Amino acid sequence: MKTQMLENGTVIDHLPAGTGLRCLDILKKQNIGEESIIIFINVPSNVLGKKDMIKLQNFYIDEKMATFLSLIAPHVTINIIHEHTVTKKVKPTLPDTIEGLIPCINSRCITNTEGYMTEYDIKSKQPVVLKCRYCEFEFTPD
Ligand SMILES: [Zn+2]
Repeated sequence: MKTQMLENGTVIDHLPAGTGLRCLDILKKQNIGEESIIIFINVPSNVLGKKDMIKLQNFYIDEKMATFLSLIAPHVTINIIHEHTVTKKVKPTLPDTIEGLIPCINSRCITNTEGYMTEYDIKSKQPVVLKCRYCEFEFTPD
């Protein structure tokens, strides 16, 4: 498959419409330069009706990041592009536990007040429900 716009980088596809900006927030913590991000909002999709999509020029996301994205976008597909060609397609699956990046929604949790790295058990995968290991709050990231 040839892609027109991206020579090298990552295409994050099949994000549910409305989740693209949230995913972008998570990605920005990975020191991706603003100038190398292209985001598409509400593009027609055969699978989802409408979808969001993110292209990262000259940046490859790792497996951990792909897993994080699948918390918000269960159908996410990660395409790795080299010289306009998809060389790898990844459909991440959720693990049973997850660390870091997603802040706990409980403002009094010590991960927020003391800066501990967050740790969650994934209580449910459809929809995703996370349970904080520190304060035991349960919530759905969205
Ligand atoms: Zn917590």
